Amino acid sequence: GRTLQRPENTRILTVSNQKGGVGKTTTTVNLAAALADHGFNVLVIDIDPQGNASTALGIPHSADTDSVYDVLIDDLALADVVTECPDMDRLWVVPATIHLAGAEIELVSLVAREQRLQRALQEYFQSRENDGQERLDYVFIDCPPSLGLLTVNACVAAQEVLIPIQCEYYALEGLSQLLNNIQMIQKHLNPVLAVSTILLTMYDGRTNLASQVVSEVKEHFADEVLSAKIPRSVRIAEAPSYQQSVITYDRASTGALAYLEAAAEIVERGQ
Ligand code: ADP
Ligand code: MG
Repeated sequence: GRTLQRPENTRILTVSNQKGGVGKTTTTVNLAAALADHGFNVLVIDIDPQGNASTALGIPHSADTDSVYDVLIDDLALADVVTECPDMDRLWVVPATIHLAGAEIELVSLVAREQRLQRALQEYFQSRENDGQERLDYVFIDCPPSLGLLTVNACVAAQEVLIPIQCEYYALEGLSQLLNNIQMIQKHLNPVLAVSTILLTMYDGRTNLASQVVSEVKEHFADEVLSAKIPRSVRIAEAPSYQQSVITYDRASTGALAYLEAAAEIVERGQ
């Protein structure tokens, strides 16, 4: 077997793509669960007002739940909203509620509007240390499908960007806009930010289109694209309705195995 080592420092990945429906949330939830399954301490931060990552991991996020909204807008400590995932050890979640839909506008007039998540996260790391809790190994931030201030906050808080790309027509459309934004953030707000990982999602090996997308992505992102591809899978699609990741829902399914492999690759590439 392979040995997967803990990273020297907490790795923070933002899962971003301003297109909706490309597999951001599915990837966040299942990579996080796969890494927890591999024995790492993992935190998921849901910053999409839809709260799909919270739902998928079985975390309450009704309108009256304290959430990442209160952290970003009212300076609530992240520690006060971090919730344990009910099905999995070593996995914690910061839920999003519908209030976050207004945050994009509320943030505009706040001090340090781009750095609020970064500060909250760094304070949280410190508070875990003070409380003698184990260090987190991985943090994943599930972004909304836009390039607004929520996504900017995620990119400022992270060191790495993970871009899921759906193996469909128009897969690369809009990507240059995302890359330009990342460059701007790198230049002005977060010099360490880099696109570290591209993950191909909803791959269907029976279609020519899918293999065309794969070669095109490999041409543009030879160093970033993982060899593990996520297949289109019914098990992946139905797991959220049981409030589970595919890792706990059906660990032997091709979808679960693909996410476990992608997670191992992410670990190894960081070593
Ligand atoms: P995003 O967060 O980018 O909007 P989602 O992760 O919510 O995208 O995925 C969009 C839809 O596609 C969801 O209904 C999800 O269940 C489904 N989906 C994602 N990945 C897969 C997959 N590998 N196989 C089958 N369905 C998938
Ligand atoms: Mg989503």
